[in-house]
Amino acid sequence: MAGENWGMIVDVDKCIGCQACVVACQSENNIPINEEKHFNERRAIEWIRVERYWEGEFPDVKARFIPIMCQHCGDAPCEPVCPVFATYRNDEGLNVQIYNRCIGTRFCSNNCPYHVRFFNFWEPEWPESLHNQLNPDVTVRSRGIMEKCTFCIQRIRRTKRTASRAGADATDEEFERSLDPACVNACPTETLYFGDFNDPESKVSAMKEKESKRDGRAYTMLENLGTNPGVIYLKKIDKHAEDVAHG
Ligand code: SF4
Repeated sequence: MAGENWGMIVDVDKCIGCQACVVACQSENNIPINEEKHFNERRAIEWIRVERYWEGEFPDVKARFIPIMCQHCGDAPCEPVCPVFATYRNDEGLNVQIYNRCIGTRFCSNNCPYHVRFFNFWEPEWPESLHNQLNPDVTVRSRGIMEKCTFCIQRIRRTKRTASRAGADATDEEFERSLDPACVNACPTETLYFGDFNDPESKVSAMKEKESKRDGRAYTMLENLGTNPGVIYLKKIDKHAEDVAHG
């Protein structure tokens, strides 16, 4: 890939499960507010979720958290099954979704092993008090549309425009922070890192290089499926196991 290859690194060891990323994503991307009724009908809608799981046996049991969003796969199972090419991989390494092309067959969602695509089963409604908080840079999707994490593509586009007016690259230090998706900005523990894997100078490239070595912590989700995800996870550091190993 010649241009950028946007991707993310998620350091599971740092996640405290606070859900700030979930709220930031909802606010940035005009994600409809779910209600108990819809939720009970299994109609979830959130572009990033934080899954909780337990490790250990009582009483030495610990809660663990793992944020999961669209993995922007290099070989995405959602793409070939869409009959109208509403979802495809662009030349920046993003798996994009064209809302006005989507006809709502939901084949993509059925074929996504990560369960990160969400269908608008109802016409979105916001309380009067929240009308002014809708983000004008992001489309308000109507009923019948499939949607999912875009790595906040509106921020990438805005940063590129600003950088090009200043005669710089979007990945220059000055612009780097404004590229970050809302979830990355909001995370209080710096669990999430966003950047260009094609740029050898980027933080994500350096982390990938370091953590992919033999004793590194890098892994991708459901690696055996060969989806070639653009999101790399760093596994939890198990202090107890390390202490045992080092006597
Ligand atoms: S904001 Fe950061 S620490 Fe909180 S749940 Fe999300 S990824 Fe985890």
